[in-house]
Amino acid sequence: MSEKFQAVVIGGGPGGYVCAIRLAQLGLKTACIESRGSLGGTCLNVGCIPSKNLLNFSENYHKAQNFSKLGIEVGKVKLNLEKMMKNKDKAVTVLTQGVEFLFKKNKITYFKGAGSFKSKNKILILGDQKKETIIETEKTVISTGSVPISLPGIKFDEKIIVSSTGALTLKSVPKKMVVVGGGYIGLEMGSVWSRLGAEVHVIEFLDHITPGMDKEVSKEFMKILKKQGINFHMRTKVESIEKVVKGATVSTFDKDGKKVNFECDVVLISVGRKPNTNKLNLDAIGVKLDEKKRIKTDKSFQTNVSNIYAIGDVIEGPMLAHKAEDEGIAVAENIAGQSGHVNYDIIPSVVYTTPEVASVGKTEEQLKKANTKYKIGKFSFLANSRAKAIDEAEGFVKILADETTDRVLGAHIIGPHAGELIAEIGVAMEFGASSEDIARTCHAHPTFSEAVKEAALSVDKRAIHS
Ligand SMILES: Cc1cc2nc3c(=O)[nH]c(=O)nc-3n(C[C@H](O)[C@H](O)[C@H](O)COP(=O)(O)OP(=O)(O)OC[C@H]3O[C@@H](n4cnc5c(N)ncnc54)[C@H](O)[C@@H]3O)c2cc1C
Repeated sequence: MSEKFQAVVIGGGPGGYVCAIRLAQLGLKTACIESRGSLGGTCLNVGCIPSKNLLNFSENYHKAQNFSKLGIEVGKVKLNLEKMMKNKDKAVTVLTQGVEFLFKKNKITYFKGAGSFKSKNKILILGDQKKETIIETEKTVISTGSVPISLPGIKFDEKIIVSSTGALTLKSVPKKMVVVGGGYIGLEMGSVWSRLGAEVHVIEFLDHITPGMDKEVSKEFMKILKKQGINFHMRTKVESIEKVVKGATVSTFDKDGKKVNFECDVVLISVGRKPNTNKLNLDAIGVKLDEKKRIKTDKSFQTNVSNIYAIGDVIEGPMLAHKAEDEGIAVAENIAGQSGHVNYDIIPSVVYTTPEVASVGKTEEQLKKANTKYKIGKFSFLANSRAKAIDEAEGFVKILADETTDRVLGAHIIGPHAGELIAEIGVAMEFGASSEDIARTCHAHPTFSEAVKEAALSVDKRAIHS
């Protein structure tokens, strides 16, 4: 007899594990199936967490090299990459085991193995040593995430030609690293290896980095990264990548159609990710995909097969951990008969470089395209006392508000702790705040958040410190 569940979640990433916990909280007998051997998905194992760990410690290494300028004499600063990587692995282990603990606490059955559909109510789990288990379920949530895309005909070996996963585990600092793609993952990983000593070249097909980001911020971001020593080759197309004795040759055509070759030790291909639906046997049960091979769902995350739902990177929308988590909670509540909901207009996104870049809501380009009349409030960190006090005064806060109603439509921050500052604006937007509401809220002094208040004041041209 196969074990029966009220709900089964396939995939234990931020979408899946959060969904499983919420389902269990709501009283459903729940199981979660995960094939990688540890919970937390891409995010905890090979994404958000290890990358933020390396960003933090590479930044500390970089800062330590300049300590003497601040009057701190520490002798010669030396990198122990092996130790740095071990610390990163420890952070990953602690967090993934934390999720396992939460599963036990919430009495969720955790199956280690790859799940696939036998029928719409039966799931086959292929575990270690090809052990097969079949379970029965009333409802299933697919949360199988995404995997990195390579360029046509080029395979990752994760040593010389690497995806983000390989870039998180390099054994030594490359002398020269080529990053194909100027999106946030490439720039974060490029920053890590640049700070640790690599000469980094970013090759980007478009004329700007971080597509989708407010253009003014994206321009400022590239200027700052260039100043940090990262080289950019814009409107440049990669033709081929050949492995050579020690490294690789990346052949490109530049903006004038001239062939330019880059010799490097490591090439990181960071051109996007694709939904992971391969081994689910979806054809057998008739779950429909869209034109981008994502699972098609309606507003309640239901697929065309009524007892099967999907969330996270495997469906439409930004591939972000917090988006997956919120969808996980919403779908669990829907399954339990409640009204789960995600507000896609207010999903923040953050790039964890130094300085950080964060945004929420509409960009100027989007507002122009929609013919929305808007006002801009901008405030530079150069005039923020906290940022000046600690010599981290690059960047600015930009708030976009409706010209007539003053309602905040979007905000874009490049500067210290931008990823934390953006949350205030997200909350304000959820409550339908105007820029005046933010401007009239008392902010502690001296804090970076005063730059948010000043940007809000600046919407009506009444910033005090500029
Ligand atoms: C380098 C990097 C840095 C990132 N940094 C950030 C960041 O700072 N902030 C942010 O918000 N996002 C970040 N992301 C994106 C984030 O990791 C993803 O958006 C998020 O993990 C998606 O969650 P998910 O649950 O949809 O899928 P995933 O996290 O991909 O989890 C899906 C899980 O399903 C499992 N699985 C797949 N098929 C099966 C099967 N058939 N049976 C059982 N299990 C299966 C997989 O093994 C995987 O563990 C980053 C990604 C990368 C690669």
